[in-house]
Amino acid sequence: MAFAAGGAGSGAGLIDGLVAFRKNVLGALKGQTECAICYSVVGPDRQLPSKKCSTCKNAFHAGCLFRWFKTSNGSSCPLCRNPFNYA
Ligand SMILES: [Zn+2]
Ligand SMILES: [Zn+2]
Repeated sequence: MAFAAGGAGSGAGLIDGLVAFRKNVLGALKGQTECAICYSVVGPDRQLPSKKCSTCKNAFHAGCLFRWFKTSNGSSCPLCRNPFNYA
């Protein structure tokens, strides 16, 4: 049964990802964690703010953050100006 053996690992990973995503959605709706750059919970690409500054604990969309990095020519947090660490 090569099919069952090969499919088990990837299948479990996919389900784990879906569970994590669901938790993120529920957490965001409950806690109203909005992106500190565009001020919306769900971004233009339907993503939730998944990048968190380890210093000021504000959350950002990956897309918003990368756009900020590009325009600011650096990788510091838009709010606290500390070097951004992906936490
Ligand atoms: Zn955003
Ligand atoms: Zn910060």
